[in-house]
Amino acid sequence: MSRIEVDTARLPLLLGELRLPAISRLWPEIAERSDREGWPAARLLATLAELETAERGRRRIERHLAEARLPPDKTLDGFDFAQVPMLSRARVAALASGDAWLNKGANLLLFGPPGSGKTHISAAIGRALVENGYRVLFARTTDLVQRLQTARQALTLEAAIARLDRYDLLMLDDLSYVRKDQAETSVLFELISSRYERRSILITANQPFAEWNTVFPDPAMTIAAIDRLVHHAVVIEMNVQSYRQRSATLRKGRTAAAAHSAKPQPETVADDAT
Ligand code: ADP
Ligand code: MG
Repeated sequence: MSRIEVDTARLPLLLGELRLPAISRLWPEIAERSDREGWPAARLLATLAELETAERGRRRIERHLAEARLPPDKTLDGFDFAQVPMLSRARVAALASGDAWLNKGANLLLFGPPGSGKTHISAAIGRALVENGYRVLFARTTDLVQRLQTARQALTLEAAIARLDRYDLLMLDDLSYVRKDQAETSVLFELISSRYERRSILITANQPFAEWNTVFPDPAMTIAAIDRLVHHAVVIEMNVQSYRQRSATLRKGRTAAAAHSAKPQPETVADDAT
């Protein structure tokens, strides 16, 4: 056995025990390069430490992306800002960096008719935030309300709400689909109150505030919820036509145009005849 083999025989075990998978995987190659290029020992150590830290950061972001339950494939790159003139790319980029609003627990409220792109832009902002080191959770509001109601029945509502504190941003999609007559929606109010001025909430809704009386058990609670949500909030109204309808209309237009140009044109026939 060579000297090096003797020295390193226990390395895989030691590195495994220390939970340093990147170093464990990469050290032979880096050590070889270090020997070849005559690196000082300190440089070798620093290089290995950097590699491990970088990989740890990447794995953390992967974990946070998985736990965020974001709708897949909705990215900022895939969002056509020209369709939503009231929403500038720069403004969204600022929101996606997070610092200015998440650190003070401010909220983001997005209103607009179905198909205006609320879910898409929210998911895209959420993804960018995770990539910038924040933790987010995306949920259909009805699902989350149901989970909280179950927790309340089990007398664990407080703990369930506290567990959501680990997320810098809670994204509640389609708040206005929640109906107070379906079950007890005061859990939603308790969630909003608990996060007030501490942890951010993003809400999308088809209906503006005036219609929210259908969501909360009574008008006083509706007013109190809205009051807390808007106190520190960015409100964006996306009053544009449904993207789905627009692209369907465009497709139909193109199909019609294609069908039209495929038909023999009277002029052409006339030309041929001459
Ligand atoms: P909303 O949540 O407002 O009902 P969605 O975000 O679900 O609307 O948008 C409906 C569909 O149209 C989705 O597939 C979404 O990706 C797409 N879409 C909406 N707006 C845009 C846009 N500006 N650019 C690209 N795709 C869009
Ligand atoms: Mg939506």
